[in-house]
Amino acid sequence: MPVSFSQLAEQYDVIVVGSGLGGLTTANRLAYCGHKVLLLEFHHRLGGLATWFKRRGHIFDVSLHGFPYGMLKTCKKYWNKAITDSIVQLKNIVFDNPQFSLRTTFDKEDFTRLLQGHFKIPGTTIDRFFSVVAGMNFYDDQTMTTRELFNDFFPGRSDVHRLLMEPITYANGSTLDDPAITYGIVFSNFMNKGVYTFEGGTDRLIGLMTAELEKNGVTICTNSKVEKIIIERGRVRGVEVLGKTIAAKAVVSNSGITNTINNLTDRQAYSDDFLEKADKIRVNTSSCQVYFGIKEMETIDDVGDLLFTSSAPEFDSEELLDKHSHSKTFSLYYPKTRPGQNRYTIVASMNSRFEDWAYLEETNYQQEKQLLIDRTLTDLERYLPGVKDKIDWMEAATPRTFNSYTLHTKGTSFGTKFEGLNVSRSIFKEVAGLFHVGSVGIIMSGWLGAINYGVIVSNDVDSFLRS
Ligand SMILES: Cc1cc2nc3c(=O)[nH]c(=O)nc-3n(C[C@H](O)[C@H](O)[C@H](O)COP(=O)(O)OP(=O)(O)OC[C@H]3O[C@@H](n4cnc5c(N)ncnc54)[C@H](O)[C@@H]3O)c2cc1C
Repeated sequence: MPVSFSQLAEQYDVIVVGSGLGGLTTANRLAYCGHKVLLLEFHHRLGGLATWFKRRGHIFDVSLHGFPYGMLKTCKKYWNKAITDSIVQLKNIVFDNPQFSLRTTFDKEDFTRLLQGHFKIPGTTIDRFFSVVAGMNFYDDQTMTTRELFNDFFPGRSDVHRLLMEPITYANGSTLDDPAITYGIVFSNFMNKGVYTFEGGTDRLIGLMTAELEKNGVTICTNSKVEKIIIERGRVRGVEVLGKTIAAKAVVSNSGITNTINNLTDRQAYSDDFLEKADKIRVNTSSCQVYFGIKEMETIDDVGDLLFTSSAPEFDSEELLDKHSHSKTFSLYYPKTRPGQNRYTIVASMNSRFEDWAYLEETNYQQEKQLLIDRTLTDLERYLPGVKDKIDWMEAATPRTFNSYTLHTKGTSFGTKFEGLNVSRSIFKEVAGLFHVGSVGIIMSGWLGAINYGVIVSNDVDSFLRS
């Protein structure tokens, strides 16, 4: 259980600011290694974007739509068995757009079958493509874009580009003009064995993680917004939170990297060269979501677990971001998702720009939200005719919502573009004892990326504290 603010000690070995999946993992690993850890979270609950909310008996998951198989290995090694045992595959992934309609298990075997059978791509090209993307790694050439990669292998095949790209854009916000490695690494992760989810929902996962943190001795304090990370003579000294100073040898910020540099710390602490790179960081785009709750005794047909739907003629990253986009993903949560709870919920997700929503005055904002709900319901009716009468809760979230709950710059859903990774990785070279963890560079984002990054950063902090 989180402790009350007045119970906090004057000093810790390390303070973790923020409890997203990256922050939770770093805090847990460091406590496991024997360090005295304090985890401070602005919100009243842990999890960051890995969150949920309850309305009229429904539990809505915000970011539990799908992650790669790698989560099993990561959670087994760095979390625990109860968490690992609840990771299950989503086998029913559906695409429906003017170029093709198909169902897939979203793994290499099934994609090879589809590319060969449905899209008539020669087997040798498919094998070469898979081998090139599987061989991509962080140290590769970063100048080739995903667009160039696709044009090399599948010139003039906008239908194939759409099949390969659309889900990855939803999964990490990347576009055809981002470095090909940000596509290749994430796509290969999924192609390894398909798309997975957490049985029992995000609330159960965060509950199990919290129990593990407590077992390892992390002190958790929620409703605690850190105002400043204190830096003196090039070293971290602690944090200022709710008018109190708490000392620490190391501070790990799970706040966004841009927030960490510009708002949580004094920019004078950094070199000009570092600030020049930091100022070039572009945050990723944000999201809109529409949540539908189905009445208690009602059921809906199984139309797939994840439904990538679009009425746009071709895939276009800009169209996907448009306020009136014709593209969205429906995540359908059947009772099997939450055993014991005989309820159905549906969440529609769209990539969105902060600027399209941020400056609307209140009445207009509410009207636009209602229009978003109406458009989404019309799209949903195409797959579930009559569903309108079965729904007893509808609600929308926008980039403004994500910004206000997580404080992320422009409500970003997936941290930063690729240039953020280098800055995040090198912040501790600028200020002794200051570390950053959290969605950056597309690769270190999403549930798996954030947890893996948490492990990497905890190793850095452990070495620092022992040196
Ligand atoms: C709509 C949506 C759908 C998504 N779908 C998927 C998906 O299907 N699969 C997937 O893998 N990923 C998905 N993601 C992305 C994934 O949720 C994130 O990449 C990941 O959870 C981010 O973890 P993080 O460690 O970067 O921290 P975050 O989740 O960003 O959390 C940061 C935390 O720091 C806290 N904080 C910030 N500043 C302060 C401060 N000053 N003091 C105290 N606390 C502070 C915030 O309150 C927050 O709790 C989705 C994201 C969104 C928005």
